[in-house]
Amino acid sequence: MFLQKNKALFSMTIVTILLLIFGVFFMASVFKTEVGERTDFLKNTTAQGASAIHAEILDHLDVLRVLSSNAAFSQKANAGDRISALSQKEVKRCFSVVAYCDPSGVGVTDTGSRLAVGDKPYFQKALQGICNISDRQISRTETEILLAVPVIHNGVVTGALIAALDDIGQLFQESSVGFGKTEYRCILKEDGTILFSNFSVGMANFFDLIQPADGFEQLNKIKEDFISGASKTQKLQMKETTMVVSYSGIEGTDSWIFLAADDYKSIFAKANRVLLPSIFLFLILIFGFFLAFFYFFKLKKLKYETKIRNEEQKKYFTFFDPLTNLPNRKGIIRQFDVWIDRYRKESSSGGAVLLDVDNLRSINNTFGHDAGDKLLRESVERLKKVVGSQNLFGRIGSDEFIILVHGVSSESELAFFARKITKIFRQSYLINGLVVQISCSIGALLFSYRDENRKPRKFEDILGRGEFVLNKAKQTRKGNYILFNETYGNQIDRQIRLERALKFSIENEELPCYFQPQYNSFTKSITGFETLARWKSTEFGMISPGQFIPMAEKSGFIKEIGRHVIESAFSFAKSMEGRHLTVSFNASPMELLEANYADYVISRFQYYGLQPNSVAIEVTESCLIESFEKVTQKLMMLKRHGILVYLDDFGTGFSSLTYLKNLPINAVKIDKSFIDEIVTKDVEKDIVRMIIKLAGRLNLQVIAEGVETEDQIRCVSDAGCHLIQGYFISRPVPQEEVPTVFSGVQKSRTSELVRENGPESTG
Ligand code: C2E
Ligand code: CA
Ligand code: CA
Repeated sequence: MFLQKNKALFSMTIVTILLLIFGVFFMASVFKTEVGERTDFLKNTTAQGASAIHAEILDHLDVLRVLSSNAAFSQKANAGDRISALSQKEVKRCFSVVAYCDPSGVGVTDTGSRLAVGDKPYFQKALQGICNISDRQISRTETEILLAVPVIHNGVVTGALIAALDDIGQLFQESSVGFGKTEYRCILKEDGTILFSNFSVGMANFFDLIQPADGFEQLNKIKEDFISGASKTQKLQMKETTMVVSYSGIEGTDSWIFLAADDYKSIFAKANRVLLPSIFLFLILIFGFFLAFFYFFKLKKLKYETKIRNEEQKKYFTFFDPLTNLPNRKGIIRQFDVWIDRYRKESSSGGAVLLDVDNLRSINNTFGHDAGDKLLRESVERLKKVVGSQNLFGRIGSDEFIILVHGVSSESELAFFARKITKIFRQSYLINGLVVQISCSIGALLFSYRDENRKPRKFEDILGRGEFVLNKAKQTRKGNYILFNETYGNQIDRQIRLERALKFSIENEELPCYFQPQYNSFTKSITGFETLARWKSTEFGMISPGQFIPMAEKSGFIKEIGRHVIESAFSFAKSMEGRHLTVSFNASPMELLEANYADYVISRFQYYGLQPNSVAIEVTESCLIESFEKVTQKLMMLKRHGILVYLDDFGTGFSSLTYLKNLPINAVKIDKSFIDEIVTKDVEKDIVRMIIKLAGRLNLQVIAEGVETEDQIRCVSDAGCHLIQGYFISRPVPQEEVPTVFSGVQKSRTSELVRENGPESTG
């Protein structure tokens, strides 16, 4: 995460820097074009201004030139004619005063006033035949513009026309340029005198207004430009303000200059008018980027945190039970070493209490799993009140808990604690508005913190013994406790040796199969056999399947046993071919959960070349609980291949009668527990009746298991069930005794009585 965060920050920084660089360049270019445009505008204004004024001057001079050819200015003309010529409308429109002067410089104006200009340079220039223009200061603030044009008659200069424009602005107004409103414009003389301007600076000299940045070099250059009439644009410091100044010489004048200037700040401000929205847009862009980045990063962070949380949760749940938050089996194993290390200095022994909630499965089936969960949580809350902080408390199975109690040294102390717990469970529970009564079975033991070799005690030692006594309690003293003692120790040792020996039972040929007949009480004939495994151990003698099958299921050896039994069942079925029998075999849930189990059974079925319906698989409802869909599919596959399916021990599981119709089964075997009491208890009789009736509706066969007496046969027959299996017909027998079973049945048929075979043959 740190690296990731850094990477993100790094890329963000890079993008930000790139954006900033881009932004700065963009702004600069926007600014430059704006300033450039303003400067160009000034330059153009100046050039246009200069040429427009030049044109205006020429126009004015033309008016005078036309006038000069008037006969009224010949030598013979009288003063009256001259005055009337000068007063022409056309002329008066252009000039404020017009005068004619003879070569001596004496003249008369359009109003008849006299004047003498013989010594004036403009007059002298005119006498030399040069049209010219000059200025004359008439007051401190006013300047007059004078135009002088020679009067030529017969190729001889006979005088001059002098005209005055008392307002130079007239020239601008009459020219198309005019004066701009925002920038400064003026006309200067080469010596810097301001002849006219659209701003008020008094009659200052332009050069006085300049504060040259680099001494006088800049000033001198401007003066040179003014004299040569050059055009230029540059930044100038004038008084307090920085200006961009553009100037250009006006042709046809006595070195007049047209100058336009603009406040640099205002150019800047104008540029800013474009720049500011750009900056604003740019900032929005950056902000948008940051926002997007922020959310992107936040999203990533959220994802990362969720991942971490999930991982932590996963890690947590490998050691803790999500329902009760107690350490699970792994969690207890992990904590045990630390626990024993801490307490073995304080005391030499402790107690272990393993408890199992009785009948939790039926609570789940009756009230739903939710109710079962609530019950467990409530139980844990109650238990926590008696489990001290020095004790270790965990959930090691679905309905199994362990409490390791520190410092217990006597059996009476341990028994006291165990009793306290059983009492806790006996108090009724209120689950989903219902009062529920349950109990718990306990296996408890004392243990020393060090083993026989003075090493810290191993958890497995405690767990093995604890579970052993717990199972004993569940089998014999439900709702009560059993303390571990020496006898159990020996039993455990035997158990361990048994488990070891079982693994070699098949290769030592100690695991034959017996066959128990299934009998039709109506036709009085054998319809099939159930294959039942037997362990004849050389070391331990005869061990019942009730004992070794659970052992094999625990160790996984059941798969080998299963295959071994299938071989016996199928070869027996083959040997019985032609008798129309069905040989059934039992399958453990563990076998049925194997992925290729059905394929295996079918392949062996085909290998033996068996007829359809000659074999049946017996499954219990617990097989279906594990994985209903998958197991159902497998059973359907077997059925399609001609293998019958029996539902074994019917009535002991969560048997829902309506549920039966969804299962791919051919027959149900009513559990022995119902048959046991069918003669004495009406309820059992009713249940059996109901099962048989319903099975009939669903087209299922019914086999009554564990039939031991004639009365029982009569009862199930009355209820409509004629298929019987039980000691009354025959105990399970080795294959070589099967003919005896047949002959026994034959005999009894003739004597109309089926006799008991006596104790199960040990082969
Ligand atoms: P199960 O499948 O319900 O088999 C019927 C059990 O009832 C057999 O016990 C049989 O001997 C016994 N039984 C039959 N008739 C009577 C009777 O009239 N009275 C009494 N008291 N008992 C009767 P068994 O052979 O001891 O088997 C016990 C259980 O072990 C079987 O119950 C079955 O669940 C399991 N088992 C036996 N063989 C195998 C096997 O090859 N594979 C698997 N997976 N389980 C097996
Ligand atoms: Ca069975
Ligand atoms: Ca059974």
